[in-house]
Amino acid sequence: MPGFELFGDTERKHLNDVVDNGVLMRYGFEGMRKGHWKARELEAALCQKMQTKHAQLVSSGTAALSVALSSAGVGAGDEVIMPAFTFVASFESVMAVGAVPVLVDIDDTLTLDPVAVEKAVTARTKVVMPVHMCGSSAQLKELKAICDKHGLLLLEDACQAIGATYEGKPLGSYGDLGCFSFDYVKTITCGEGGAVITNNDQYAQNADHYSDHGHDHVGKDRGAEQHPFLGYNFRISELHAAVGLAQLSRLDEFLGIQKRNYTILREALNTVPGITFRRVPEGAEENYSFLSFFLPDESSARKAHKALGEAGVDGCFYWYDNNWHYVRQWQHLKELKSPGKLPQEISTGMPDYQNRDFSVSDAVMGRTISVLIKLGWTDEEVNDRAERMTGAIRGAIK
Ligand SMILES: *Cc1c(COP(=O)(O)O)cnc(C)c1O
Repeated sequence: MPGFELFGDTERKHLNDVVDNGVLMRYGFEGMRKGHWKARELEAALCQKMQTKHAQLVSSGTAALSVALSSAGVGAGDEVIMPAFTFVASFESVMAVGAVPVLVDIDDTLTLDPVAVEKAVTARTKVVMPVHMCGSSAQLKELKAICDKHGLLLLEDACQAIGATYEGKPLGSYGDLGCFSFDYVKTITCGEGGAVITNNDQYAQNADHYSDHGHDHVGKDRGAEQHPFLGYNFRISELHAAVGLAQLSRLDEFLGIQKRNYTILREALNTVPGITFRRVPEGAEENYSFLSFFLPDESSARKAHKALGEAGVDGCFYWYDNNWHYVRQWQHLKELKSPGKLPQEISTGMPDYQNRDFSVSDAVMGRTISVLIKLGWTDEEVNDRAERMTGAIRGAIK
């Protein structure tokens, strides 16, 4: 997945454009910037790539999710339904706007189970937030039907799935709003950064203002601009946008490399009795940033994961024990530990995660292993890896 592996001349060229004139800010300073508007260019390129009307760059994927929520009018006490398997940023971004993350079970797609989503809808629900984990789509058609039925927003956390598609549409562009992360370990990186995409003019305008202290961006004098509503600073810098511009232009190249490497590993693992693969919803195509597979049960998954480590196969994740990606280890969330007092809507509105039953997700996660697909592997390295992986797993679960 990581675009940082192939940092090169294109990235340096765009960075040099910025360093050359020293305008590190995305807004203003027109006279000094010698025509370089990297953030603007990257937004236009994202619109084109994602086939949406609008794109708003921000400082991170977490910020993108918060900005998306605020821009669509989601705030204190509103409930956002999201999966129990995701990166912590998904619920952090919800809590940052005073809203309540309602975690529900996933299924063998490793994304939201639509039946669990429907059951979790209450009078306070405003948003369904699928997370396209590990490069593959949630069941968007089913989730959209639930949203339409109950009048909810569909907000896609596509931070791990840029370049993947559903019914031919780029992930992130299917729902009312979609978010990407360009942090250092994502498929394409800005160093740090994120983006919101949408076809909704009002949300886009709100995102533009909200991410820059409420600035309406009318005219050419920042100090004289108006502030129609309260905002925040979630701006991206020109330096970060410059790197992103280079990386986005290389996305298809990266996806091609990932697909090749993924396919070699998958074909090898497919020969191992007992291994099955994560279900990709009908009509979806992965971005091949991870290969995720199931062992028959938790005990064999643990043995297989251990054997992979011992065989020197790096980049294999057993999410069930992971501190950052699965509810089981989110003690800080379960106990609502925070340096400062949390908004009352959260402290009183939060489901009791100490006692909530996630046994359906546990049954899936306990059997799951994902291997990160790298860009820099040579053919020889991938083939060697395929051999070591199949050997280790065969030995572990025989
Ligand atoms: C990386 C990630 C984010 C947050 O992105 P940052 O840019 O690191 O803030 C959000 N959701 C998911 C699923 C992610 O993997």
